[in-house]
Amino acid sequence: MNKFNPSSAIFNSNNGDEYNGVNVSISDSATFFFPTAQDMEATFNGENPAFLYSRHSNSTTAKLAQALAAMEDTEAGIVTSSGMGAITSTFLHLVSSGDHIVSAHTVYGGTFAFLNNWLKKINVEVTLVDTSNIEEVKAAVKPNTKVIYTETMANPLLKIADIPALAEFSHANNIKLVVDNTFTPMIFSPKRLGADIVVYSLTKFVNGKNDMVGGAILADQETINSMLDLNNGTVMLLGPTMDSIRASMVLKNLYTLHIRMQKHSQNANFIAKKFKEVGINVCYPGLQDDKGYEVMTRTMNKNYGYGGMIAFDLGNFEIAADFLKVLQQKGVGFLAVSLGFYKTLFSNSGHSTSSEVPSELQQKIGITQGLTRFSVGLDDDIELTWTLIEETLKELKII
Ligand code: PLP
Repeated sequence: MNKFNPSSAIFNSNNGDEYNGVNVSISDSATFFFPTAQDMEATFNGENPAFLYSRHSNSTTAKLAQALAAMEDTEAGIVTSSGMGAITSTFLHLVSSGDHIVSAHTVYGGTFAFLNNWLKKINVEVTLVDTSNIEEVKAAVKPNTKVIYTETMANPLLKIADIPALAEFSHANNIKLVVDNTFTPMIFSPKRLGADIVVYSLTKFVNGKNDMVGGAILADQETINSMLDLNNGTVMLLGPTMDSIRASMVLKNLYTLHIRMQKHSQNANFIAKKFKEVGINVCYPGLQDDKGYEVMTRTMNKNYGYGGMIAFDLGNFEIAADFLKVLQQKGVGFLAVSLGFYKTLFSNSGHSTSSEVPSELQQKIGITQGLTRFSVGLDDDIELTWTLIEETLKELKII
């Protein structure tokens, strides 16, 4: 299981373009012509595979989808214009009015809002649980449960889901397991661990430059085909299509993802240990006493470390806000949402990316007022970065 190498899979999946270009060519066409009306009709009927219209797919978006499918070891994929485009299309594909979803309560705020607020419009019921606790998941399932949804490393508390255990339970109950791998590309291969569908925000680590928004759905060929079906396919009909220029950008960045993930992880591990040493309560699943350490070590691909995200509690919002303001002034990183950037990004989770979660639930699940999230950057001199962080902690009398 752990021998799978997602980076080699990417390298083997694309070999330049049809004109011997080392990068793929950018498709500049919304529509495609056919030699005859009969050929066109055959494509509409699914009997003549050909590019038809770029909301569906084109040669550039198809290449990116193919490379991501190789990375996740799925048969096929679709790339979308945002992570939310991928996630909402997947839910809408899998559920109908009257169905039920069991989801992690600690998910990205936009996903939370869709599950908790928007799906009510179409009478889909959602139960939110701690998916790192399989017993909670089992207790929440009902006869009409169609989907179990989790993030590999749950945002923002970095809890680790036991995907093999969730997959075993889901499949025994005829439920689809959907996993968001945005925080941990290459580190986890959810489909190989039993997930049915893997979704992504490519905006984060995968692209790594914060210059675009994108997403992906990776699954078996039948699922992908049905999502792209001309008459019923959720992606085809809702139209969250990725642009070819963006797709070619993401594809180029994919070839350096393994090196970036290793460096993000190495730096995050260093900073997490330092926070711990100075007595700050820190969550990082690479620390041996972290709740997620055992399950992550057992289920991860071994070459990429424990990821670039850390979360820690500074006690209250005002202190956390001051701390982040000074860190930004000192050039440690940016006070900005999002993650997976080459510079460190930081935010106060409860007052930003998890603000969609009602405050009582925030309290219940441990999103405290002072909870601060770092997406640790690719800093070459991480010791210098820590010096600036420690100096700030002392200046503000946090330590
Ligand atoms: N999933 C996770 C884990 C995220 O952190 C985000 C965005 O922050 C999304 C999905 C949504 O992705 P996008 O912003 O690309 O729509």
